[in-house]
Amino acid sequence: MPDITDKRCHNHKRREAAGRCPQCGRFFCRECITEHEDQVLCAACLRKLVEPAGKTSNRLRGVLRLGHFLLGILILYILFYYFAQVLLALPSDFHEGTLWQTSWWTGS
Ligand SMILES: [Zn+2]
Ligand SMILES: [Zn+2]
Repeated sequence: MPDITDKRCHNHKRREAAGRCPQCGRFFCRECITEHEDQVLCAACLRKLVEPAGKTSNRLRGVLRLGHFLLGILILYILFYYFAQVLLALPSDFHEGTLWQTSWWTGS
């Protein structure tokens, strides 16, 4: 590589490139390139190379978390629904009982 010294780091315009990323073909300084499985890669390509699996598992985890969240809301909704049913059922019973009692009291 005869012209590597004129190349500048893609991230640091003032720094001389120490190597070229084989993935994206851009030049990077020593700080910006990392060795990964016997390959010299830039940080961006390393992330791209390493992340897909982690990203999908993260997304899956997010979906699972969202599923748990929605399930929790659903359970809460069902609980509140039955709670409301019970609350709606109880006062009418009390009310009827009171009505019956008052009528019984006034009737006597
Ligand atoms: Zn790269
Ligand atoms: Zn750099």
